[in-house]
Amino acid sequence: MAQIIDGKLVSKKILENLSDEILFLEKKPSLTVIIVGEDPASKIYVNLKKKKAQELGIHSNVIEMPESVSQKELLDKIEELNNDDSVNAVLVQLPLPKHIDTKAVIEKINPIKDVDCFHPYNMGQIATNGKPYVYPCTPKGIIRLLEYYDIPIEGKNAVVIGRSNIVGRPVAQMLLNQNATVTICHSKTKNLDAIVKNADIIISAVGQKNLIKADMVKDGAVVIDVGMNRADDGKLCGDVDFYNVEKKAAFITPVPGGVGPMTICSLMQNTFDLYKIQNGS
Ligand code: NAD
Repeated sequence: MAQIIDGKLVSKKILENLSDEILFLEKKPSLTVIIVGEDPASKIYVNLKKKKAQELGIHSNVIEMPESVSQKELLDKIEELNNDDSVNAVLVQLPLPKHIDTKAVIEKINPIKDVDCFHPYNMGQIATNGKPYVYPCTPKGIIRLLEYYDIPIEGKNAVVIGRSNIVGRPVAQMLLNQNATVTICHSKTKNLDAIVKNADIIISAVGQKNLIKADMVKDGAVVIDVGMNRADDGKLCGDVDFYNVEKKAAFITPVPGGVGPMTICSLMQNTFDLYKIQNGS
């Protein structure tokens, strides 16, 4: 039976430390989130981020803009935040309405305030094994889980399933930077089963329940499930057939309670790290 990788526990410990550090700061770190439109899921995510920031003593501000906002108005608002020294971290909640050019919006954020690490400067630093201001939240959370459980990365065969800019691509590059041998799989990959079977570390970020089945998993593999799906009974589940894969893996993340809590934890840590960078410490 696999050891469960407890993202709730790890994130709680990290956030407790962070809260202690913030407590002693005279001027608090500050996070500004821009949300455009009325998407209910986005509203829930933004509220969660705001609440978590407040719990930690991070000053948080949510700017709500109407669905009809123009590209220029949104870019001007980001420019204003870029120039506001009291704002350390800027996050634009995605997805944006269709008439807005998401790439232009991301590129408008000053990389030193790019708390999500979506800006090409920061992504490029990761791609070239350089130094981004901060790392993207979910990949950073995954690496921290591996570190916490002393799971070696160097020399291991890591298979990342999913190639999104927010999870698959950056986590693959971060594993490569730590000397794993990395394979990235996606919707056009042939023989997924055989490729996954060769993995010491499996990271699934697809969004398809039961995609990763026990017969695809090598005995003793480390299985990180990023997927967030609804099971037939309506409960949250990942991409991995947890019940059966747990019997073969050495380590496995549950859904919920694995990667999810680490993502918001990384966002808080990134806000604090940007604050420190901007204050020269
Ligand atoms: P996405 O939704 O943008 O893209 C899905 C990826 O899966 C694509 O790269 C696609 O090529 C690949 N894919 C689709 N079908 C496939 C198949 N049959 N075989 C192999 N690859 C296939 O990716 P995303 O935004 O990274 O989200 C992926 C999942 O992770 C979603 O369920 C999302 O909700 C979840 N997620 C969770 C967290 C968290 O904090 N837990 C954070 C981000 C995303």
